[in-house]
Amino acid sequence: MTVDRPVEAVPFDDVPAWDETADVVVVGYGVAGASAAVEAATLGAEVLVLERTGGWGGAASMSGGFIYLGGGTPLQEALGFEDTPDEMYAFLMAAMGPGADAVKVRDYCEGSVDHYDWLVELGVRFKEEFCDEPGWVPSADQGLMYSGGENAWPLNEIARPVPRGHLPQIAEGSARTAHEEGERGGGYYLMAPLVERAEQLGARALYDVRTDCLVVDRAGTVCGVTGTRFGEPFRVRARRGVVLAAGSFIYNDDMVARFAPEALGRPGSATEMHDGHAIRMGQAIGADLGRMDGCEVAGGADPRMNVRGILVNRVGQRFIPEDTYGGRVAQAIRYKQDDVAFLVMDDAGYEEVPDMVTGGPKPRPDWVADTIAELEADMGIPAGALDATVTLYNRYAARGEDPLFHKNPTWLRPLEPPYGAFDLRHRTGGFTLGGLRTNTRSEVLHVSGRPIPGLFAAGRTASGVPVWGYASGASLGDGSFYGRRAGRSAGERR
Ligand SMILES: Cc1cc2nc3c(=O)[nH]c(=O)nc-3n(C[C@H](O)[C@H](O)[C@H](O)COP(=O)(O)OP(=O)(O)OC[C@H]3O[C@@H](n4cnc5c(N)ncnc54)[C@H](O)[C@@H]3O)c2cc1C
Repeated sequence: MTVDRPVEAVPFDDVPAWDETADVVVVGYGVAGASAAVEAATLGAEVLVLERTGGWGGAASMSGGFIYLGGGTPLQEALGFEDTPDEMYAFLMAAMGPGADAVKVRDYCEGSVDHYDWLVELGVRFKEEFCDEPGWVPSADQGLMYSGGENAWPLNEIARPVPRGHLPQIAEGSARTAHEEGERGGGYYLMAPLVERAEQLGARALYDVRTDCLVVDRAGTVCGVTGTRFGEPFRVRARRGVVLAAGSFIYNDDMVARFAPEALGRPGSATEMHDGHAIRMGQAIGADLGRMDGCEVAGGADPRMNVRGILVNRVGQRFIPEDTYGGRVAQAIRYKQDDVAFLVMDDAGYEEVPDMVTGGPKPRPDWVADTIAELEADMGIPAGALDATVTLYNRYAARGEDPLFHKNPTWLRPLEPPYGAFDLRHRTGGFTLGGLRTNTRSEVLHVSGRPIPGLFAAGRTASGVPVWGYASGASLGDGSFYGRRAGRSAGERR
């Protein structure tokens, strides 16, 4: 979808009249916007949230709800995991980059336990149970899981492996069932308490308002927004500040083509409202950008299948430890293997995988054969290439070793006939991570490096903690964390 609508800032003096006025105006009622609204309203600011759709929630409400927290949260401690902000920092700097903002990552790690406590105080519940299986989401409604490859090579050598994927408990049933059936999942149970608290604190929300432009006074201070409501012009004055929290640009083909072309034409993990317009609103007044090429990438096979097989590229060679985070696998497939990969399993491994995996029934192999020679011929892999890979893998697996990628011995076993292979070519999707450059106060930075007075951004409208690499929960994590900061910074302005 390509968006074509006004974006240039409107001079304050040109606004004929205001339809609404508030201290803090928040654009977008997803996770970053709701967190900003709660925090600004807590400070006593009059808050108005402008949401383009007919209700709150955004992509956050549809999401699995993983929120990346650590450094010794009460949930981690209750489940016997020792974590520190330093360990979390070492992991995130390795996993979220290259190019991760060290100051922001440090700040996020230092504030993570407090953020957990804040969420719990709002009413978000995390079940005291650890899911020790690999997967995109927990197998049931467990509250804690490895969600970023913390326990796989090479990240397990960079920081002590600790699970940090915190999953809000859903009201009934299992998180996975809810996710699969399109019912309310963890994301809804993260968003609902946020919105409820915002309302209790007096924050107002107006729906069906599409925000288009910033309003800027002669001194260059952002002091409102313009847009449309039911097709009519709509102008809102902000006394203290505007928070842009309108999501990513994954549904703006022009921006994707220019900034993150490998994601073009791939499915977007967001809502179509993620059209990048809020980023352009900031650009229109000189805002700087951060790592616009970064993408969260998902897709490929279920992690429970990956661990039981080997992932190979177009020439039949392994390229990653199969027990790492599925997003790291998907990202490696897209960016390092030209979006081409295959999963090779044997029958015994396949039978161990549950009948239902994330997204539906366990897929059937695209090719099956009694020998690797037949299998590689059917797959179009050069003769002998896959055979050499499997021979080497099996030789070491028999000893519980993987000298190439250090897959955990739990998953090492020689592959035996019959074999099956899954076609993972061109299956990746995701959302963009780049956005407006902000500091730890969520102030939007001008290209000169100075904060733009009155303008704040968070969530995927901003460049946050994940800039290139990703771990499940990093988007809701930094979206809510820096959404709060944006609300606080705007609310404190006079
Ligand atoms: C199926 C799925 C599962 C996911 N699982 C996870 C997970 O487990 N953990 C995780 O961290 N992330 C997950 N994500 C990603 C995560 O949901 C998003 O990246 C996150 O919600 C981004 O937060 P945000 O506040 O920037 O955007 P959103 O939560 O989408 O909020 C943005 C809001 O702004 C509104 N808006 C847009 N433009 C305008 C405008 N011009 N004017 C007014 N309003 C506007 C939108 O309608 C929307 O309501 C998942 C995503 C999907 C789709």
